[in-house]
Amino acid sequence: MIYPIVKYGAPVLEKPSATITEFDDELQQLADDMFESMYAAHGVGLAAPQIGISKRMAVIDVTFKEDPDAKIVLVNPEIIHVEGRITSNEGCLSLPEFREKVTRARRVTARAQNLKGETIEVTGEELLARALLHETDHLNGKLYISHISALKRDMLKRKIRKMVKAGEW
Ligand SMILES: [Zn+2]
Repeated sequence: MIYPIVKYGAPVLEKPSATITEFDDELQQLADDMFESMYAAHGVGLAAPQIGISKRMAVIDVTFKEDPDAKIVLVNPEIIHVEGRITSNEGCLSLPEFREKVTRARRVTARAQNLKGETIEVTGEELLARALLHETDHLNGKLYISHISALKRDMLKRKIRKMVKAGEW
């Protein structure tokens, strides 16, 4: 099933998500639904709080359906290694239309669990590194705009407030 994407302003996006302890069919279903919802929204990454579910799970496919092996499910992920720096445009399905330059690590390793509860490690560079950091941030209640300047963030929030008032958000 395709869930609607929760937009910035919803409290679920700014609180830490709960650790997952049950690795059952329901979790598999949630992962399937998250991929479906992510593709429907034209995203390359999605965290559970973005569909209103405060659980520590994220899905990523930086190839957007090109390579079935590129589909990544991260349960309870944590970043265990970062290396280098790279600045690039970043966006978020919960902040549609906006993109900002964000400096992040170039190479990142995340440790997580898969849908069976087994420990996995995923290392990525550039876009995948950025997705690993961005999605793990979501599970900690943190949005990418926390990595931009306060001035830019205030401008963005002002624009969003206007859109909310106009019924466009
Ligand atoms: Zn996001």
